[in-house]
Amino acid sequence: MNFDSSSPDWRAELENALRRNTIEIPAPPGKPVSGPCRVPKRLITEDGDIINEYNTVKFCGIMKGGHVWAYLLHSGRLPSPGEYVIHGCDRKCCCNSAHVRSGTPKENHTEAVQRGLIDPQAGKGGLRPQVHGQRNPYAKTTNAVMAVAKWLHKNPHLWFTSEISAHHSLLEAIGILLNLTVPALKQMTRRESWRSLEASPPQCLPTVAQIPPDAQPPAPKKNGKIGPDNAALMLKGYWESEDRPRYIREWATRLKVSIISVQKVLCGESWPEIEPQIAREKNFASHRPNSLSERDVQTIRATFKANPNVRALKAALARKFGCEPSHVQQLILGLARRDVPDDDSAIISLDQLVFKPSAQRGEAHKLAVLSPDQVWQIHTRRAAGESANDLALEFRISLTRVYNILKGKAWREIWERFQQQRGNGDKPGEGKP
Ligand SMILES: [Zn+2]
Repeated sequence: MNFDSSSPDWRAELENALRRNTIEIPAPPGKPVSGPCRVPKRLITEDGDIINEYNTVKFCGIMKGGHVWAYLLHSGRLPSPGEYVIHGCDRKCCCNSAHVRSGTPKENHTEAVQRGLIDPQAGKGGLRPQVHGQRNPYAKTTNAVMAVAKWLHKNPHLWFTSEISAHHSLLEAIGILLNLTVPALKQMTRRESWRSLEASPPQCLPTVAQIPPDAQPPAPKKNGKIGPDNAALMLKGYWESEDRPRYIREWATRLKVSIISVQKVLCGESWPEIEPQIAREKNFASHRPNSLSERDVQTIRATFKANPNVRALKAALARKFGCEPSHVQQLILGLARRDVPDDDSAIISLDQLVFKPSAQRGEAHKLAVLSPDQVWQIHTRRAAGESANDLALEFRISLTRVYNILKGKAWREIWERFQQQRGNGDKPGEGKP
């Protein structure tokens, strides 16, 4: 893209684009920059704090980080691949062209460490410390044991013979010998854990013949990561927490489990034996004044129950009742307003809801590479027996994308039309979109 020749006024245009919806605020003290920062209004909170996020700006129909455009303004070119745009003011969203320069990722990191922005000991994003091997507080076994497991997995012929497979798989046998669960070993073989550990041969181990045929490796603990104690703590604090979404996120981070796992505990789906006892201790109805009437809550629950698979239903319900989608989620899960009894007759029809498309679909999607015509061809030609791989090669798209089209995950309208036509007994390929 040559900005110098395409439009002589591109600088002025770009400057305007960067100025849109932004304000100037003083640069943080002590930073090696002059002049104020230019920050998007949407990233400034009511308290005047600045959310430390990158901002995106559209220019010439292209979406890029505001700082990248600022760098173009500053130097007359876009950063080349591998080149980082570094903020002198340490504000990710600042798009003052005098505050940015280019540098290598390494320089960026070193600078951030020097200025105390990230902890050099910390892992990705400077947030969660990544401690490997047995030093990790979540490690269930030691380096020595795991090194042997690795060795056995790599050299099964040196330890196991064919007779082992009659009773146990290789991983089961290793699990029995070393008292490790099969999922833990699977993670190791997939290099999801213990990745940097060197394999080492065992000093002494029972021979294969000494493994009893009916022996089993230790069973993985169900909900092993959460456990009854954590589940109880989690439930207890939840009703008292001010910022509940944050509370859920914190537990998920602390226990290294997904947010859904935490939600499952909170709504009684997992560890249901703990829930009633906690529930008895608290009167949830009086927790917080709520703007939704009892009928509204019943409507939300009944409507969701009747249409569990409708896309964006929660957002549409939230719009209808003037609350956050996360609150709708809590109502549906029973994490909020559990005093309200269910009433399936309170349902409303979907026509009364406003559904907003989450993204542009089909050809209008800014990343669309195919035309509806080509998608139709993919359906018809696959139905006629051509291999998905050949189609992927011909249309220059990935195999996954071909399968997404064939399964109706992408270009759903065309998929539906195709299914309809086949169902009606028409020859596929006759009707063109
Ligand atoms: Zn700045």
